[in-house]
Amino acid sequence: MHDNTRLIRSHVPHTSYGEHSSPLYLNSSFSFPDAESMQAAFEEGSEATVYSRYSNPNTDELIDRLCILENAEDGWVTASGMAAIFTCFSALLSQGDHILACRSVFGSTHQIFSTIFPKWGISHSYFDVNATEENWEACLDKNTKVLFIESPTNPALELLDIEALGSFAKKHNLIFVVDNCFATPILQKPLNLGADLVVHSMTKFIDGQGRVLGGVILGKKELIKEIGAFARHSGPSLSPFHAWLLSNSLETFELRVREKSKNAHWIAEQLESHPGISSLNYPHLPSHPQYDLAIKQMKYGGALFCFELKGGLEAGANFLNKLSICSLTTNLGDCKSIASHPASTTHSKLTEQERLAVGISPGLIRISVGLEHPEDILNDILNALA
Ligand SMILES: *Cc1c(COP(=O)(O)O)cnc(C)c1O
Repeated sequence: MHDNTRLIRSHVPHTSYGEHSSPLYLNSSFSFPDAESMQAAFEEGSEATVYSRYSNPNTDELIDRLCILENAEDGWVTASGMAAIFTCFSALLSQGDHILACRSVFGSTHQIFSTIFPKWGISHSYFDVNATEENWEACLDKNTKVLFIESPTNPALELLDIEALGSFAKKHNLIFVVDNCFATPILQKPLNLGADLVVHSMTKFIDGQGRVLGGVILGKKELIKEIGAFARHSGPSLSPFHAWLLSNSLETFELRVREKSKNAHWIAEQLESHPGISSLNYPHLPSHPQYDLAIKQMKYGGALFCFELKGGLEAGANFLNKLSICSLTTNLGDCKSIASHPASTTHSKLTEQERLAVGISPGLIRISVGLEHPEDILNDILNALA
């Protein structure tokens, strides 16, 4: 069967009511008929549902479905994307370990690397998005344990070659972790390209409707076991209610990502030669500097594109004020289209030089395309440009 069929048809066992969609198990704990079965539930390797900090039927269903999507052996869900990233690294790293990462990482991930982990003696080095294997090698330390990347990057939508990085990680015995939030498993499956683990903020495309936060770590069974052992006791657990919502969302996930990508592709194509724009980046347009890699690595171009306004910082803020449909919010991957101006908002705390190093020019606008009619979104952008 195809993944989508398996996903939609996998669910927690039905109860005697024969409900057609999965019930919500709002239970903090689960009870046992006798002392022996309770004792068995606490034994190593038991899959029994004991306490919702460890597992819950709704989180189990969600993990099973996510494993189908990412071709993963196992997974662990968390209360937010950042909880997934923090839990993943904290579980796998010890004092003295070193992280190798691409400089273009999500803002809070950068904060974990640069302000939190140094407290515990965990260091990091960054390479640039267009670095070569020689550059990656030069950043290696004898204690490097993890390689971490996002592709496409936020917000500049530059790509990293996941397969090449996968071979590099294997050669140097690194655990290769990919934040696949922007691409989603509908566009690319990093575990098939050499990654050991994939992390997601489910807050973005997986919910896709701007309702809940959630995170997940997926990949090799033995790594997830180590992460699970850490998470059971440190408690970043996802609420069963949020797991239930997110699992239901997955039934329409492929449809939504495909349609958002189609809309974004069309709008980006129409805008590309607009005189108010000096450049536009969309992975599946031939003008993208890594077009060949984008076609090879990503099934669709994704729901996001970005462009550089002539007129810089001031033009960026002005542009946002002239939009009437696109929302001004920090989310992405929603059914509602969203516009953002990183230089004056999400990345305003960086210096100009730091921004330029991750591809954020003063007039850069990022658009996350939703499911409104694409002509209306295009017209909204054209009006604001005018
Ligand atoms: C949003 C985001 C995160 C963090 O996820 P939260 O659910 O907000 O905690 C991590 N990585 C990327 C690429 C993101 O876009």
